[in-house]
Amino acid sequence: MAETKRDYYEVLGVDKNADDAAIKKAYRALAKKYHPDVNPGDAEAEKKFKEASEAYAVLSDAQKRQQYDQFGHAAFEAGGMGGNPFQGADFSDIFSDLFGGFGSFDFSSFFGGGGRRGSSNAPRRGDDIVSDVRITFEEAVFGCEKEITIPFKEVCAKCNGTGAKAGTSPETCPQCQGRGQVVHQRQSFLGIMQSVEPCPQCQGTGKIIKEKCPDCYGAGYISQRKKIKVMIPAGIDNGQSVRIREKGEPGKNGGGRGDLLVRVTISRHPAFQRQDTTIFSTVPVSFSQAALGSEILIDTVYGKVIQKIKPGTQTGARIRLQGKGVPSLRDPSFKGDHYVTLVVETPEKLSAKAKDLLLQLDQELGDTLNSAKRYEESVKGGEKPGGKSTGKKKKGLFGK
Ligand SMILES: [Zn+2]
Ligand SMILES: [Zn+2]
Repeated sequence: MAETKRDYYEVLGVDKNADDAAIKKAYRALAKKYHPDVNPGDAEAEKKFKEASEAYAVLSDAQKRQQYDQFGHAAFEAGGMGGNPFQGADFSDIFSDLFGGFGSFDFSSFFGGGGRRGSSNAPRRGDDIVSDVRITFEEAVFGCEKEITIPFKEVCAKCNGTGAKAGTSPETCPQCQGRGQVVHQRQSFLGIMQSVEPCPQCQGTGKIIKEKCPDCYGAGYISQRKKIKVMIPAGIDNGQSVRIREKGEPGKNGGGRGDLLVRVTISRHPAFQRQDTTIFSTVPVSFSQAALGSEILIDTVYGKVIQKIKPGTQTGARIRLQGKGVPSLRDPSFKGDHYVTLVVETPEKLSAKAKDLLLQLDQELGDTLNSAKRYEESVKGGEKPGGKSTGKKKKGLFGK
């Protein structure tokens, strides 16, 4: 138990950028090799099978994979953001084509406890639910409090969650004797395979309700809309979730409630772009500011900043404003930087006086306005038509 867990990508032997098809292919090969039915009694193979299956359960699910990439194994440890790595994982397509129509392999019973389909009488934790919230760019930078409305199942007060009418109680299912699951055996090319499936008669609950509670119609809980406040931490990024304990689906048989995952979508900002903790923006500067150097005003999420630019600043020059970016989610004392790209703007509407001054300036700066004309004249003059204008000197250097 104390041994360190191997990296999921390493377990499957794929690289960090592997696509879904590559991940599936890698897992399929490992599952075929280490499946316990192919290696009966081989504890090492079983361990390898479990390890590969866990890696696949996470990496084949876009959301879990993102959480793993960000937080590593911590994402799925008790209290982590990702919950049980096997939760919601779907192996059916893999095993159906591997082992010939052998649909649902019960991983929870195979791995012993903690799963969704253990004995139906054991306490079972409720499922997590996901709710989306949209926030502004600034709210993501500084953190915020949001009120959201979620569907919330309250245990039915009338039947105390049993779903049975007052004075009656649920009976043990005769088909599965209350276990909630039935075992199927099947002959496959690998030998006899066993699978565990939810009991069809009681839908896996292990109980049959003869007379349903009139308040909750046998469900055991009543659905309502509930408003809750969510603290969104500074530095959260698009697609990340905030976990709120025990606001998910109610548990069964005394198991705790699942959690609520509030998934954040950040609206685009008209001026700022963001990558992790770095902010980017573009700021226009006038020709005079760029040529002469000056102090310019720059908008940041923390307000306006005055910044000096050097004489002769070129368009595309970049300024780094240290610590004016986004706080780190992991370490709020660290703030990223804000990079500003300067764009020298060309004036569009010129007064007669401005035009005249620009013409004078151009004379002073070497008469660029007439450079094409000068070239034409030089071609007509001395050189052969079609020849290279300054070809004479170059020929001297590189010619025969
Ligand atoms: Zn009820
Ligand atoms: Zn049953």
